Amino acid sequence: MKLNSNQSHEQGDDNHLSQLASVGQIAAGIAHEVKNPLTAVKGFLQLLQREKPHQYIDIAQSELESALAILNNLLQVSKPDLENEDYQTLKLSVEIEAILNLFLDKMYDIEMITEFKHPDALIYGKKNQLKRAFFNLIKNAIESIDGKGTVTVIQDIEDKDVVITIKDTGVGIPKEKLTLLGTPFFTTKEQGTGMGLAQVFSVIYQHEGKISVESKEKVGTTFTIKMPLNKKVRKRGIKRLELNYKENFSIKDFFLENRDHFEDKLLSEAINVKDKVEEIHSIGNINLLNNAHKLVLFVVEEREHELISFAKQEGIAWAKYSLTLAFKLEWIQAVRRTLWVFLYNYEVLKGTEADRDELFAMEKQINELIDQFLTHFFISYSKFKDGLLEEQRKMVENLSVPIIPINKEICILPLIGAIDNERISFILDKVLFEIEKQHIQTLIIDLSGVTPIDQEIAEQLMKITEGTLLMGCRSILTGLRADIVKGLVKFGGNYYSHAEFKGTLQLALNEVGFKQD
Ligand code: ADP
Ligand code: MG
Repeated sequence: MKLNSNQSHEQGDDNHLSQLASVGQIAAGIAHEVKNPLTAVKGFLQLLQREKPHQYIDIAQSELESALAILNNLLQVSKPDLENEDYQTLKLSVEIEAILNLFLDKMYDIEMITEFKHPDALIYGKKNQLKRAFFNLIKNAIESIDGKGTVTVIQDIEDKDVVITIKDTGVGIPKEKLTLLGTPFFTTKEQGTGMGLAQVFSVIYQHEGKISVESKEKVGTTFTIKMPLNKKVRKRGIKRLELNYKENFSIKDFFLENRDHFEDKLLSEAINVKDKVEEIHSIGNINLLNNAHKLVLFVVEEREHELISFAKQEGIAWAKYSLTLAFKLEWIQAVRRTLWVFLYNYEVLKGTEADRDELFAMEKQINELIDQFLTHFFISYSKFKDGLLEEQRKMVENLSVPIIPINKEICILPLIGAIDNERISFILDKVLFEIEKQHIQTLIIDLSGVTPIDQEIAEQLMKITEGTLLMGCRSILTGLRADIVKGLVKFGGNYYSHAEFKGTLQLALNEVGFKQD
């Protein structure tokens, strides 16, 4: 079933898409217009509340908050700052590859298959808007899968179009819901906003592209997007921004003066991090915007030492709260790009023209500092993570040799799972240590839970019983299986004379006349 297709017999549906695209656009336009007066009302209510508090004002304020939240949602469809974005030539394959990295944490359950048949195919469009659209589509595909599944993204050329298909093995969309896709606020998710597809439809439509969907409940959904192929590479100039400049401003003054502009530009560059700013703040108390300002100032003032300790601190925070690395990368890259746009504008406004040598020197200095930041960030990130892994490994090792006292003299060691050389030497250490510490007289080693072992491991196991004996402790092996016995028999009588054998744990306990203390 298709919602829309470029085949002529379904032309009627094409109309549906353009209608939806314009519904989204109009809605976003209205939202933009209504938001300003409402924000003013909010301000006056706050003033009023201070002058003459009244409980109704509280209610009015909270109702107003929810109205503003709805408007903000609508603005997701087309943000004014994104509307102003310039067209440029770009490769969808590259953008999509970058977007997929933002979902690395989902890849344990979800297999992502990509096939870029013409990776260098160019299109002409608004990069950030398109990135956002593909982010929304891929996010939906991932969210449609409960548990394990596959998302397949294929890029190809057909006639004069670049064609992207995004296919998931998710829940699918019921037939009667298909026509609702893209309607602002249509969502079937508890936490959904219903704005994702509205944005997608509106952007694809603006770019004179086409989008269609096929879906089958419990089987999955495939979205197909066609974008006109672009042959010419058009060079992109650096944008002149309307920034404030006063005589003799230093670069630092310039940044401080235009702080808000910098934030806006940065957020529009880091389009996918944008939605994460608040989340990251609430999880790790990390204020990305403040940190970006800090980084930029350290760079332009060449405060290398502070920059490095800041990077280390950030690496640890990022690791501690398990934040997605791809977001950090995108963020720092956006900082770098925005910084250059600002430096360019600074030079233009200052009216001096930097010569080539100066320019190269500046390039070297600035990029080196940002690279320093990234290097130290990643090293401290991975150090912290390695530390965590090492701690966990030790904990697991310890848990893997549970020596359980059942009275003052008798302990049981139930071994479970695979036993390799490394684990066996750890077991030996721990057994000897505990025998000494707890004055264990009898150790019952139960092997019923171990996976098949080879001869070498069987021999090592016997060494444990030998060591136990030397410590003056009796050892009884239980839960022996054919494979273990076979391994032991091959060694002759040397080792297994140290231990006693009982078929089951219960027999071993009977043997030692186990009584509770
Ligand atoms: P949201 O994701 O916030 O719900 P969207 O506009 O992105 O909003 O999607 C609207 C609805 O369309 C979703 O709630 C879901 O029911 C349906 N949908 C979109 N994409 C898929 C998909 N790949 N598989 C199944 N359902 C989907
Ligand atoms: Mg969505």
